Amino acid sequence: SASQVPRTEPALPQGVSRSTFVKAISEITQTLGTENVELNDKPAVDHGWYMEHPNTHDMMHVTDPEAFVASAVVYPSSTAEVQATVLWANKYRMPIFPISMGRNLGYGGAAPRVRGSVVIDLGKRMSKILYIDADDYTCLVVPGVSFYALYEAIQAKGYDHIWIDTPDLGGGSAIGNTLDCGVGYTPYGDHWAVHSGLEVVLPTGEIVRTGMGALPGSNTWQSFPYGFGPIQDGLFSQSNLGIVTKMGMALMPNPGGHESFMYAFAHSADLAPLIEIIRPLRISNILENVAQVRSAEQTIAVQGRPKTDFYTGPGMMPDEVIEREAAKLPCGKCAWVYYGMSYGPAHIRAYKLDIVHKEFSKIPGARKIDPATIPRDNYFWSRDNIAAGVPDLEELLWCNWTPNGSHVAFSPVSPIRGRDAEALVKLARDRRAEFGVEMFPAFCVGLREMHLIVEIVFDKTVPEARKAAMDCLRAMIDDAAALGYGEYRTHLALMDQVASTYSWNDGALMKLNERIKDALDPNGILAAGKSGIWPKRYRGRGWEM
Ligand code: ADP
Repeated sequence: SASQVPRTEPALPQGVSRSTFVKAISEITQTLGTENVELNDKPAVDHGWYMEHPNTHDMMHVTDPEAFVASAVVYPSSTAEVQATVLWANKYRMPIFPISMGRNLGYGGAAPRVRGSVVIDLGKRMSKILYIDADDYTCLVVPGVSFYALYEAIQAKGYDHIWIDTPDLGGGSAIGNTLDCGVGYTPYGDHWAVHSGLEVVLPTGEIVRTGMGALPGSNTWQSFPYGFGPIQDGLFSQSNLGIVTKMGMALMPNPGGHESFMYAFAHSADLAPLIEIIRPLRISNILENVAQVRSAEQTIAVQGRPKTDFYTGPGMMPDEVIEREAAKLPCGKCAWVYYGMSYGPAHIRAYKLDIVHKEFSKIPGARKIDPATIPRDNYFWSRDNIAAGVPDLEELLWCNWTPNGSHVAFSPVSPIRGRDAEALVKLARDRRAEFGVEMFPAFCVGLREMHLIVEIVFDKTVPEARKAAMDCLRAMIDDAAALGYGEYRTHLALMDQVASTYSWNDGALMKLNERIKDALDPNGILAAGKSGIWPKRYRGRGWEM
């Protein structure tokens, strides 16, 4: 494989000759400055961690690390420099791949889909919060603004009345996460739903503002997302049709109190009735944030200890061991753990929590765990932070489960029904046994649907372990599609497969995507292959995988 011979030169994009590449790089260096163009002439190496990850490839690669690797990384400092970079890419037919901060771990990290692409790292120099409107509870950010940075800026200004929403890991870009339809855990957790207004550089270099931002001097860009229509924002989410350089977002008012709660459910068979109980409570907002139902295995693993601390036998950790180890934790012996948060002043919370307690208690053996009994270093308090909009970093501790632990996610969407939860867990566990992979399932319940996030954890240095993870994912995607479930998001390497499951009416959606792609990006330079959408000059030439 490519990685056996250490590379000392950049991996050139297919179709770009060495001399063209050298000429092109020298030109973009003149535009952006020497220090803002970096050649990637070293083999993809795995060091780094979440906060200091490489921007040339996926630190948690589930493929050969050289499969999706950048030839160079450039750092524009403004919308005008992004525009100049896009025009440059068109001139040289250079594949480019924009990242905001590149922390898209579990879905490809910073890696480009086309080997040898020039990664445009937007976040490094475009990281200023343009404004926070403390009266309207809105903000305008650029790609390098992380959830941490937004949180810290609000604290620094002393705005006690404003909260942000953060995903499980707070180090990523608000723009990157929102464009990929990421979620957080306050009532403002649907990031796409609370965004308002984009500024976008199109693949041919034009700069567009969506919504009210198209009106010069507009004063409602961040408060009315729709403008005069048509709503074009969706073109730029999970696509390869533009580079987003600014985004508006609504911020949440401090609810005046909050209280995390945790319930443990004793048996695996409790999952279906629990999900049935959650649905009406969630739709009516008695459960106010994305409800998390996590497996006991994940709760054990998020202590950050390796599997071998608990089990050294062959294969998966047996149920008896899971029960035994869960029993040592605050959740106690259980199969599923519920993490939630109630918002508002005490009497409002008491009203809602009382309903939740009565409903959850219909499941025999359900136990509410008193937060006062939970040690401060327990993961419960990470969830408490996250559901209160305080960024946190503990989530990835379960990667320590295997040596050189990496993760990749299977993320199907389903109705909030017990039978769907059971079908998806069975599907995942059957394939887990077949491929011998380690996995942690967790349900994230939105308003009228739930995402099951199955994190597969593997040793990235072992090719067989990577292959098992990929084979297992491919099988699960097909199994899910056969039952009517589709993924909301996936790893770079699986985008073609997932896109192909959205095939209604002879692939009408992909045909539309391709027509739009050809119209907006005639030279096919921007993020070819992202979301399974290939520009004309790549299509049907063996790029799909
Ligand atoms: P984060 O650091 O928030 O996890 P990334 O920067 O890795 O997010 O972005 C996730 C994905 O979204 C990237 O792989 C890229 O395809 C896309 N993306 C991120 N930022 C932009 C942007 N500003 N414009 C267009 N696409 C983007």
